[in-house]
Amino acid sequence: MARLYDSRKRILITGGAGFLGSHLTDRLLEQGHEVICVDNLFTGSKRNIDHLHNNPRFEFLRHDVTFPLYLEVDEIYNLACPASPIHYQHDPVQTTKTSVHGAINMLGLAKRLNCKIFQASTSEVYGDPTVHPQPEEYWGNVNPIGIRSCYDEGKRCAETLFFDYHRQHRLQIKVARIFNTYGPRMHHADGRVVSNFIVQALQGAPITVFGEGAQTRSFCYVDDLVSGFIRLMETNDDVSGPINLGNPGEFTILELANKVIELTGSKSEIIYNEMPQDDPKQRKPDISKAQSVLNWHPEIELENGLERTIAYFKRLLPELTQN
Ligand code: NAD
Ligand code: UDP
Repeated sequence: MARLYDSRKRILITGGAGFLGSHLTDRLLEQGHEVICVDNLFTGSKRNIDHLHNNPRFEFLRHDVTFPLYLEVDEIYNLACPASPIHYQHDPVQTTKTSVHGAINMLGLAKRLNCKIFQASTSEVYGDPTVHPQPEEYWGNVNPIGIRSCYDEGKRCAETLFFDYHRQHRLQIKVARIFNTYGPRMHHADGRVVSNFIVQALQGAPITVFGEGAQTRSFCYVDDLVSGFIRLMETNDDVSGPINLGNPGEFTILELANKVIELTGSKSEIIYNEMPQDDPKQRKPDISKAQSVLNWHPEIELENGLERTIAYFKRLLPELTQN
């Protein structure tokens, strides 16, 4: 039995020491809840949760979600999974296991506790989309055997598992399809475009645009996204998703490179590297469902979010070279 009493909940966040998970942890603690953060620290970092160790409502557990976990909680947010192409391609078999076995283990836990469970799915379920912008009804265009497939297909299978647990076991599920999100606490070396460009610009290194930089992405600031997570979790039980969460502002990668150069005042030059295999040519969320069902839309403009992220990396980089 879950141990729900008054309005304070005990909430499990898998991947809680990662970029998104640590911001979600902060927000839920601010709301007065207890948070148990479960993470194997593959891409996450103790640095992201260091400030919480004296908080009596926070607990960290080092654990790999591909193994079963027995805890008593009221809600689960399942975020554990490497999210950047470099990291999820580093050990692709483990990536699929994390998505699929991790989902089975967390769904099993939710079933035993009869508690609500949130899944951090992704715009990658749409693959290299032929429908633009992408609505939730679009089934996607995913290569099942390419180098991104461990992530894309792992996340698609996790969605399948969530909906089967919902239909078969009447579990309350909340599935969010997250589009590219950025902000402080992104891993400085995980190769994602926003962190890469900012670190390169601050270090005066060449900005590595892949291909001609004509591919597009839509970038959501982390605070907006976390609000969307909580809005989805708190909305009534018949809303299961999947629901797109992201910022529809669409930019080419070359536009992003120039914006980062401008905002950092960097002297870095842009260089053009080979385009990685199966890199989606365009991506932009259709968020009409999130707007109508959750009354949610992002508020932070790219320039403002980039300034906050640049300020974070300006503080972080000297620390990294000292250690
Ligand atoms: P992140 O790499 O910073 O966080 C992932 C966390 O999961 C890390 O702390 C990592 O150590 C942990 N982890 C990985 N494998 C694990 C395992 N087997 N057991 C326990 N912990 C494990 O990435 P993020 O950007 O914070 O992404 C969080 C979630 O959101 C992921 O599921 C990702 O797929 C999803 N997502 C993120 C984005 C984005 O733009 N940031 C976009 C779409 C989906
Ligand atoms: N990208 C780039 N230079 C980099 C890193 C990424 O041009 O140094 C491009 C990448 O090819 C992709 C886009 O930026 O088209 C977003 O890449 P990211 O890895 O951040 O996310 P994803 O491809 O998963 O959306």
